[in-house]
Amino acid sequence: MATRIIRTYEDDILRKKCKPVGEINERIITLLDDMAETMYAANGVGLAAPQVGTLRRVVVIDVGNGLIELINPVILESSGMQEGNEGCLSVPGKQGVVTRPDHVRVEALNRDGEKFIIEGEGLLARAFCHEIDHLDGILYTDLVEGELEDIEYDEDEEVTEE
Ligand code: ZN
Repeated sequence: MATRIIRTYEDDILRKKCKPVGEINERIITLLDDMAETMYAANGVGLAAPQVGTLRRVVVIDVGNGLIELINPVILESSGMQEGNEGCLSVPGKQGVVTRPDHVRVEALNRDGEKFIIEGEGLLARAFCHEIDHLDGILYTDLVEGELEDIEYDEDEEVTEE
């Protein structure tokens, strides 16, 4: 495994639409492993493949309950509403308020090519939406309400970046 360089907002690759994964080969497995390592090294809660320069529909998420790997994820259902601060590893040091569904249901493939359905609430629902948006070239800064703010790192406050 290796960490990869995280692309930042001025990089055009973050604005492109990712292609679905066809065959889950060695390259995709290595990509998943490297993305998880990169996310953990950056203290993020999620990472999408275009953030490491690969235009494939691959996402990793860990909001504190273990690693979730999603290949070709699709949001099947969403409900409720939550408003909260969001950040992104590709927009370092910034955060902004984004309204997201509070509950989402996602279908994806795992690394063995098996289809599964996973549900998320709260922060996990937010992470699913944020990361799947990345696969379509959408950044949270497109959706932010009001101004982006500088993150003030406070010992008592946990900041999540995706
Ligand atoms: Zn992001």
